[in-house]
Formats: sequence, C-alpha cells, structure tokens
Amino acid sequence: MCSDGTDTPAQLLAQARRAGLNVVGLTDHDTTAGWQDAAAAVPTAGVALVRGAEISCRHAGKSIHLLGYLFDPADAELTQMFARARADRHTRAERLVANLAADYALTWQDVVEHTAPGATIGRPHIADALVARGHFASREECFAEVLHPASPYYVSHWAPAPADAVAAVRRAGGVPVLAHPFAASRGPRLARETIADMVAAGLFGLEVNHRDHDAAAQALAAEVADEFGLAVFGGSDYHGTGKPNQLGENWTAPDVFARLAAEGRVEVVQP
Ligand code: AMP
Repeated sequence: MCSDGTDTPAQLLAQARRAGLNVVGLTDHDTTAGWQDAAAAVPTAGVALVRGAEISCRHAGKSIHLLGYLFDPADAELTQMFARARADRHTRAERLVANLAADYALTWQDVVEHTAPGATIGRPHIADALVARGHFASREECFAEVLHPASPYYVSHWAPAPADAVAAVRRAGGVPVLAHPFAASRGPRLARETIADMVAAGLFGLEVNHRDHDAAAQALAAEVADEFGLAVFGGSDYHGTGKPNQLGENWTAPDVFARLAAEGRVEVVQP
C-alpha cells in the first residue's frame, strides 16, 4: 500500500504466512516507506523479510523495472533518485488525469481518494478511480483501454537509465535484479545490449519465473541468465487485489536466496 499494492505491509506478511512461504520480498515502487511496518510484522507472521524497492527505469523509450534488494535505505543517491521519481510520477499522474478528463468524468480528487497517503502514485490508482466512477470494470480493463503506453492519454514520467540504477543500488550496498525482462505485454523486447550494460554495472540476477513470461520468454530469460552468469529469480509480483497474481506462484531457489542475503548490506529480517 506504499505504492500500488492493495495490502498494507503487515497484511502482506500475514498473506505470505497463509501462502506457506518462509521468506517474502517487499518491493514498493520507488520508495522504502513500507520497510519499517513490514519488519515490525515479521515476528507475528513468522516469515522472513527481504526489503527492497522496484525502481522504474527507462531506456530508448522502454520502461524497465529493476528490483533493488537489501540496500541502505538512508543512501543519499538512491533516496534522491526515488524522491525525483515520485515527484515526477505525481506531475505525470495529474497530466494523465487531465487528458482522461477530456473524455471521462474523472477528477484529480477521485484519484487522491484511491491513493493511500504517502504512497508512490501510479497508473493503478488512476485505474481504481476510473473503476469507482463506473467507466471500466477492472484495473486490467483500464490498462487495456486507456492506460497503456500507446494510449493517446498516456504520459511518461522521469526514470533513471537502467545501468545507472543498477550502479546506484550497488553503491548503496544493495543487490540489483532485473524484473520480468521479457514480458510480452510490456512492449518491444528488451535488447541484449541493454542487459549487457546492466551486467557491466553490477546486475546480480534476473527474473525468469514470472507469470508475464510465457514458455518462450522463460526459456530466453534462462538462456540470458546463463550467458551473463546471472542468478535466476522467480517472483509473484503480488499486488493484493490489484492483480490476479498470487503470492508464492513463483519463487526463488534457497541457494540464490542465500547468495542474495550474503551480498546485501542490510540484513534479511528473521522471525
Ligand atoms: P506505472 O508505475 O504508473 O507505470 O504503472 C505500472 C504499474 O501498473 C505496475 O505496478 C504494474 O504491475 C501495474 N500494471 C501494469 N499493467 C497492469 C494491468 N494490466 N492490470 C493491473 N495492473 C497493471
């Protein structure tokens, strides 16, 4: 709930327990606002916690998501990067709403009412407001109809170059992992050169197992991981009720988790 998931950090931990997980990652978009509440919920949930963030990056017009895990949350460079991204996301959301308001009854106040205080704002909040107004049935439908990047209403936001974000996560003592690199629904395929640049900057791993990867995308991701010597991750990309993704539908092998925990500057919170 510190970005576009619908659970609070404590609810996420409780859900992880129900799903039978022994470790869960928390990666809100461009913020560490949920770290404290999530850590406080660990003893009750009895599930270990890997704290991180999902950093929105862009290269050649393509949006690329980088998972940064176990970095120093007080690191000045990352803190500034997140603050800049969040501020620009806010302006971008206002512009997107203004564009939509030309054709749909929708106000900025509607969107504010669907955004938890202090949360990193994104298109899902606008989708929730559109659904509440009765324009569409679900977040999915909003994305398919009016919120996709080729939509005439779409506005992009500032985002760092992926290799710069990888380097910044490393400088902050964190472990950078490329999220769902070959998701077909996310536009043109990510170029190998872009991944190579990220590897040169210190990329640790990439998500192979993710619901947005079909069998061919999974095979390609596994091949790229092998080629560049990257650790193989699985992720659910759980967003509460905001997406159909279920906690535990994909997971990361224990040996990769152990390497991740050893490389991060910040400890895994143990129950
Ligand atoms: P933004 O941060 O504004 O670019 O929006 C990206 C967020 O929207 C990510 O958290 C995605 O998981 C979410 N998202 C993308 N496509 C969909 C969809 N079809 N349904 C629900 N959420 C989506």
